Amino acid sequence: MKKFFNKPVDLKKLKANVLRNLEEQSSYWGNYAKKLHNFTEEVKNCPICNSDQSAAVVTIYNFNYLQCESCTHVYNSSRLNSKMRKSFYREIDKPISYSDTYTDKKVQKYRLEHVAQGKVDFIQKHINKTPSKWLDLACGNGDIIYLAEKLGHNITGVESNEDCINYAKEFYGLKIDKSKIENYNPKEKFDIISLLGITDLIPDPNALLKKCYNLLQPNGIIAVEFPNYNSLSTLIQKSFPNQIVCRHMYPTVMNIYTYKSVELLLKNIGLNIDSIWWYGMDIYELTTNLMLIEPKTKISGLSDSLFLYMNNLQEALDKNEQSDNFLIIAKKQ
Ligand SMILES: [Zn+2]
Repeated sequence: MKKFFNKPVDLKKLKANVLRNLEEQSSYWGNYAKKLHNFTEEVKNCPICNSDQSAAVVTIYNFNYLQCESCTHVYNSSRLNSKMRKSFYREIDKPISYSDTYTDKKVQKYRLEHVAQGKVDFIQKHINKTPSKWLDLACGNGDIIYLAEKLGHNITGVESNEDCINYAKEFYGLKIDKSKIENYNPKEKFDIISLLGITDLIPDPNALLKKCYNLLQPNGIIAVEFPNYNSLSTLIQKSFPNQIVCRHMYPTVMNIYTYKSVELLLKNIGLNIDSIWWYGMDIYELTTNLMLIEPKTKISGLSDSLFLYMNNLQEALDKNEQSDNFLIIAKKQ
């Protein structure tokens, strides 16, 4: 297995709209978390291995996260049930009223060029033919599709969020298939399937990966991103459980993975891990939590200093596999 580390990015630029309103952001997401309980149902078994043996590891806004004693996977013991998910997400997807269109557009451009581009370049390294047939599930606003098309691939995007679909149409001229992943059943098969930023928000990782397996051509590859439980961000959230500025373990998050639980998940389905890329925003998370809890962090220059060396500090975590994310390329056996 090939290993890759670090994804340098200017988080002051990428997070400009969050950093302008840090206090409001935190209280917004905090209030939302409190409302969430009415929409949830209890989860009793590990979503990866089905064991009912677990230990509580952290409580965030009264949501208990459990760690499976068998496979080490971590999961939220209360999750949005399928009936209420739609109405909840309709609420949560409403834009926050203090957003600034000019800043948002600049941030979006920066995200395309410095976040999405890096992921597409990484996936491209593992593709051996152009054009390839590529499926991007939960494709968001179409960044990945836009960039993969530029490389010459035939790419299909699937998304359920109306705002994202409209954005992709307006800014990139893309036509996205509107569907929930679980209802999407194309007849064709694909050379590549990407699942970026979604494995935390789905109730049944086995069903999703199995579906991808069935949609892949023989020797097809999957590019899938996972939030990492064994990360500094987890320790930060354990330290500041009721001060949310990043959504590493926000209560809508159903699953937080460990390398061990991912290995089990993919192996059982018949997917062989080829490469892994460790990267994250842990130092950013630490910095914003310090800024929120103690205003002197800004006055003293501590936060500026942490931002200045953020990529270097993050790299140390990435190299020790303690980043809050990892992206895996796996091949169908
Ligand atoms: Zn388990």
